[in-house]
Amino acid sequence: MVQFEILKKSSDADRTQSKGRLVVVSNRVPVPTAAGSPPPGGLATALGAALETHGGLWFGWSGKICAENDPPLQERTVGNVDYAVTDLSRRDHDEYYHGFANSALWPVCHYRLDLADLSRRNANGYFRVNEQFARRLARMLRSDDDIWVHDYHFIPMAAFLRDLGFTNPLGFFLHIPFPPSDIAAAIPNYDRILRSLAAYDLVGFQTPIDAENFKGCLVRAGVGTILDGDWVQAYGRKFRVAAFPISIETKAFAQEARLAEKNIIVKRTRQSLEGHPLVIGVDRLDYSKGIKQRIDSFATFVEKSHAAAKSRVTMLQITPKSRSEVSEYAQMQRQVAEHVGHVNGKLGDVDWTPVRYINKAMSRAALAGLYRMARVGLVTPLRDGMNLVAKEYVAAQSPEDPGVLVLSRFAGAAFELESALIVNPYDIEETAAAISQAYEMPLRERRDRWEAMMSVLETNDVDAWCRRFLLDLSGESADIKIPDKPEVAAMSEDEAWRSTKPALWTTIGR
Ligand code: UDP
Repeated sequence: MVQFEILKKSSDADRTQSKGRLVVVSNRVPVPTAAGSPPPGGLATALGAALETHGGLWFGWSGKICAENDPPLQERTVGNVDYAVTDLSRRDHDEYYHGFANSALWPVCHYRLDLADLSRRNANGYFRVNEQFARRLARMLRSDDDIWVHDYHFIPMAAFLRDLGFTNPLGFFLHIPFPPSDIAAAIPNYDRILRSLAAYDLVGFQTPIDAENFKGCLVRAGVGTILDGDWVQAYGRKFRVAAFPISIETKAFAQEARLAEKNIIVKRTRQSLEGHPLVIGVDRLDYSKGIKQRIDSFATFVEKSHAAAKSRVTMLQITPKSRSEVSEYAQMQRQVAEHVGHVNGKLGDVDWTPVRYINKAMSRAALAGLYRMARVGLVTPLRDGMNLVAKEYVAAQSPEDPGVLVLSRFAGAAFELESALIVNPYDIEETAAAISQAYEMPLRERRDRWEAMMSVLETNDVDAWCRRFLLDLSGESADIKIPDKPEVAAMSEDEAWRSTKPALWTTIGR
């Protein structure tokens, strides 16, 4: 393999601090445009702030498809940050992005082997595109850069950079779940995926369960040993595996919700409800979100609760379409729409539509106001890495009169938001009962539960998440020590949950 020359250390004038730059790699890059960009989400804001502080480079896909096979790099510098993106050829887009990332890794990581397209051709495209991206990035890297790679699109990035001779600190954060080994092993080139993850210095997951699943994969495959603390040894390398639950801009979101009374969507919704109570769900249209089961649970609640039917409680399900090019998503669009029609036909009346189902994306301000208006927030995915909607719903509530969060135990957020009403989303009766409990919950209990959740979110906001990962990556975190004593074996899921929970709570300050 060609070795790229590693550029000499950056001069002091190049850097804002004594450390090297931060390099972020992610599938989409929020490149500021001359015309001004839409307001970035919490993650982009936190990463942008970290890049601005350290000086840095943000590298990834432009989000565009082009006719060329070898599209050029598009570069732009704003303030202290260089942005570099490239288009994808149609073939690369089909094989790497739709084919492997969204049709193999996404379903497998969400425990849906039945929906996965496990083609070898797409797997080859995935590694090929990652190698192309790594070679392009390599030309821009300096030897003192810290590199933080995001999400399932770029798992092999570190392995390719190592092959090219880079020894920089390389961190990876997976935004989606990581399944247990019996499921993960179905991924084509499974061994290469594990080997690729082992090329990082720090591998971060949303929850300790995901981290334990990954460690379990290494142990079951006979390629890794669990060491003390977060350390793991695999494929001849020692590296750390830990949970870093991602979060939101808690204060800013709460403020947005306080001001959202004036938002036009919020006003129109309030008027149209004519004082009837609101239950809200907000999700991309994705099979991992459990939207059909949620509608069934709401329908069961309405059927069983005389008070709910009498007060004409309304569920607002905001569901922007996503990935319509993938056949499972197109099929699901039809199924959910039909199902909502069926439920409304059965339960509705001339002056009441129990489920309002909307395929339009809402602005952050509108969502913040709608969350605050809703007496119950329904966040019931069948599997979700974190689920930021759960955290946003909590942050948006009025402290005097907060609504209640009904939360799936299979959302990463359930690990921190213990004071939500935690449900098994597959169990329609149980979820319906939780909606009923939320709907009727006395003010004192609502406040207690909300305060407990809000204090978690105030401590672990997205800035804290970002800082903690970067400190751990650069080795500045106080608790890092390299062990040499191997432990016995990976823990079971239950043991992992129990043993890691106190550690995480300590880390986030509870
Ligand atoms: N969102 C939005 N407008 C919408 C629906 C969702 O801005 O109409 C945002 C929502 O506020 C949240 C994000 O999309 O920040 C969804 O993140 P989450 O972790 O809940 O799910 P994901 O879509 O990443 O699987």
